Amino acid sequence: TEDAAWLSPGDAAEIRRSLTSQFAEEFGHGPSGVWFAPGRANLNGEHVDFHGGRCLPMALAHGTYVAAAPRTDGMLYLRTLEPTLDAGVQQVCISEVTSGPDADVHTITDDQPCGWTKYVGGTLWALRALGEEIDELAVDESFGADLLITSTLPIGGGLSSSAALECSAMLAFVAMATPLGRANPGAALDAALTDELRARLAAACVRAEVEMVGAGTGGLDQTVSLRGRAAHLLSLDCRDFTVDRIPASGLLADHRFVAVDTGQAHWLGDGQFDDRRADSEAAMRLLEVERLRDLLPDRPGTADVSAVLRRFDERAGAGETLPSPVDGAPARDRAACRRRLRHALTEMVRSEELHGFLSDDELDAESTAMLVGNLMTAGHASMRDEAEVSFPAANTVVETAVEKGAPGARLIGGGFGGSALLLCRADDVATITGAVASACAEAGHRTPRFLEITPSDPAHVIA
Ligand code: ADP
Ligand code: MG
Repeated sequence: TEDAAWLSPGDAAEIRRSLTSQFAEEFGHGPSGVWFAPGRANLNGEHVDFHGGRCLPMALAHGTYVAAAPRTDGMLYLRTLEPTLDAGVQQVCISEVTSGPDADVHTITDDQPCGWTKYVGGTLWALRALGEEIDELAVDESFGADLLITSTLPIGGGLSSSAALECSAMLAFVAMATPLGRANPGAALDAALTDELRARLAAACVRAEVEMVGAGTGGLDQTVSLRGRAAHLLSLDCRDFTVDRIPASGLLADHRFVAVDTGQAHWLGDGQFDDRRADSEAAMRLLEVERLRDLLPDRPGTADVSAVLRRFDERAGAGETLPSPVDGAPARDRAACRRRLRHALTEMVRSEELHGFLSDDELDAESTAMLVGNLMTAGHASMRDEAEVSFPAANTVVETAVEKGAPGARLIGGGFGGSALLLCRADDVATITGAVASACAEAGHRTPRFLEITPSDPAHVIA
């Protein structure tokens, strides 16, 4: 079998040192600090955050680092060290351009209108808006900044480098531009950022990605990045973004989570994600709900899913299409809408079951791992056959891992590319990852890269 290539989370102190010296070289002065935000992996709850479903994610040790210093001219000077995106310093001017009929429409003008700089510019724009509601987060009028960015995550790899970018930049902006940041210099900011404030900042980062970048993110990624906890899984109820934190020590005593970056980058902005979402919105319209989660009771089970599907069939009648959720747009395929609905509902039920297993003190670690693993693999089948967002390399990874004895494996993230998450016995990690690497080579897929996933701290200052 092949030797698996591993992506290290790196050493934070070392990254801080090298980012600091590169910052001075680039901008001619030192940064005022370095801030970090993690990526995430999700045991279950894909394509359900925007439907109010439950997700079972964790923050990673891998993430994005931002070195930054304030400016007083309202400008952002941004450079990423990500080799595939680095084109030197990018200049972004945040300005209010127009007012739409319903709400203010703000536009970032920059020389790369669809580029990665929108994630960062959008984050400052969203913080400015939040600061109008929360005094301690009010952003100085003339605030601008120099930023140098580096990441230990795969970019576009389904481990949420986009939220890690938004959330690390968000911390830098809060630290440099707000009363809260000034009152809590350096690492004091970590404690000053209460869970409640972190929830508000996560919502602002969502606004940046949805309204500025135009990606259909539902809040899972940003919540984990800002509100995760070391050695814990989050159980996130996306109806109101309340979070339970479940210790992972039992499950991870003899087992490990491994992420497999298939090397096939996805791009949420390219329409396929929105297309899937439009199908489920057509189903929502038919069933007259605002969120699919509202079709299920508080503690949903499989019988509740069947009942909703029966109602769908009755209302859809015999036609082959459903009206589009957008007036005037082409009708949607009825069977496809039903599959998206079924994925979302069963995924919500799996999350409730997982929450139950993970919090059950009566279960021994081995049984928990088997139960959790089975649900992960069932989640993959649902993403493949019902949500229809999987792709050949992810299917190869999952099938190989399960065949080699992994208790569970699944595609995570938005799909159409990205990463799979494996649950393996600690003793089997080398065999399974080696077999996965070989299977990918044999099938002619890209060379996968592996990340050991340890539930880690949320976004913080690198002191
Ligand atoms: P994922 O979040 O799963 O990694 P997305 O498609 O949501 O994938 O986000 C990837 C995009 O986020 C990149 O194409 C880029 O625009 C932006 N991005 C993420 N990390 C960085 C980084 N370190 N430097 C610059 N841009 C980044
Ligand atoms: Mg993303």
